[in-house]
Amino acid sequence: MNTGLLSPHKDPMGAAIADYFTKGRAAKLRVFSSQFDEDEIPAEQLFRTFDEMPVLEQEALRRATGKILDCGAGSGCHALALQDMGKQVEAIDISPLSVETMQKRGVRQAYCVNLFDEHYLQKFDTILMLMNGSGIIGKLENMSAFFAKMKQLLNPGGCIYMDSSDLRYLFEDEDGSFLIDLAGGYYGEIDFRMQYKQVKGDTFDWLYIDFQTLSYYASENGFRAELVKEGEHYDYLACLRWDV
Ligand code: SAH
Repeated sequence: MNTGLLSPHKDPMGAAIADYFTKGRAAKLRVFSSQFDEDEIPAEQLFRTFDEMPVLEQEALRRATGKILDCGAGSGCHALALQDMGKQVEAIDISPLSVETMQKRGVRQAYCVNLFDEHYLQKFDTILMLMNGSGIIGKLENMSAFFAKMKQLLNPGGCIYMDSSDLRYLFEDEDGSFLIDLAGGYYGEIDFRMQYKQVKGDTFDWLYIDFQTLSYYASENGFRAELVKEGEHYDYLACLRWDV
């Protein structure tokens, strides 16, 4: 599992976020994957306000209590919304450009830290992982390392709010039959690479996970998974509570 930080010349999303913040507009943030056609993320979407957020994200922000960690915080949209609600939040990201932008936007506690850095040891009541937040886990084989890290960072009884999507619809035929190669890896394990102007990032693993598989791994690792809310297209918000 990657435990490092991004360098600015390999951080396309951070470059797009910094550009959008300083100039009010950004070029295309291009997304490539060996499994999908080229796509793009509009930079303004990374700066969404509470009212512009999907209902699953709004629900996670409403439910977050105590000392909150916004993990993989990007432009700081969720951290800022939480501050506006009078809640106590710390935001971390591996992108120095994003963290600098968060600080300039007024996120009071924003740090350039990798979630999996063994020296990052704080205690939180709620951990937020939003915008397919399960992605940061990378691959299913990292699940137990992920939950071990969560136990280091959570107060007993604390919980994680994570959104994800079940990608089965991409592999389902019109008649409902499944086209998944059972000998291959889990169908939600996706590789991505991004590019912004001339800034090209390295390929990284990003995990999409269905709720049933997430629940299985949660219970194997001492957590209880609750399906908080389902979205409109195979997406959902889960609460993973440390069962102590
Ligand atoms: N939560 C934000 C950004 C989502 S994009 C939003 O909803 O708009 C995912 C973010 O996670 C990126 O900014 C990326 O730099 C960050 N990230 C990826 N791996 C990480 C890790 N291991 N630790 C901390 N942040 C990470």
